Amino acid sequence: MTAHKLLAGQQRTVPVLSEAQEQRQAVRLGQAVPSLAAAYSQALARWLGDPVLRLAGRPIITECYRSPERQEELYRQGRGKPGPVVTYKRGGQSKHNLGPPTPALDVAFQLADGSVSWSGLLLSKFARLMKYADARVVWGGDWPSFKDRPHFEVLTARKGGDGRG
Ligand SMILES: [Zn+2]
Repeated sequence: MTAHKLLAGQQRTVPVLSEAQEQRQAVRLGQAVPSLAAAYSQALARWLGDPVLRLAGRPIITECYRSPERQEELYRQGRGKPGPVVTYKRGGQSKHNLGPPTPALDVAFQLADGSVSWSGLLLSKFARLMKYADARVVWGGDWPSFKDRPHFEVLTARKGGDGRG
């Protein structure tokens, strides 16, 4: 993968978060179980320390803990409610519904123009850093059927979980 491809069509300025955005990031990171929070922090530091990746987008946690009610609402999306199917888990079944501390978080990228990207290319680059930081990290992009590329989780002892959601 070349720097040219990662930066295609993007400004050569580093995307930065506002103070309020930084605070929201801290709250969401604080919801994660310690091993997942540590892996994310290490992956983020490596990302921001890379001269090419830091220009491509700023990783952000879009969601960590999710209430069972919100999970049920997401489940209905694409099943009677407008929008694409985004989850196969009903309320209470997703790892996002555990805790906090929560063993799952979703990632996207803030771009320099203020928009948010769910680029599969950037997510796969970030997934590599997450798995490097902690081998227990599972990336939703590695699942064989329903690929959930923004999704990261750590394995828990929860009975019957197949890790999706
Ligand atoms: Zn998720």
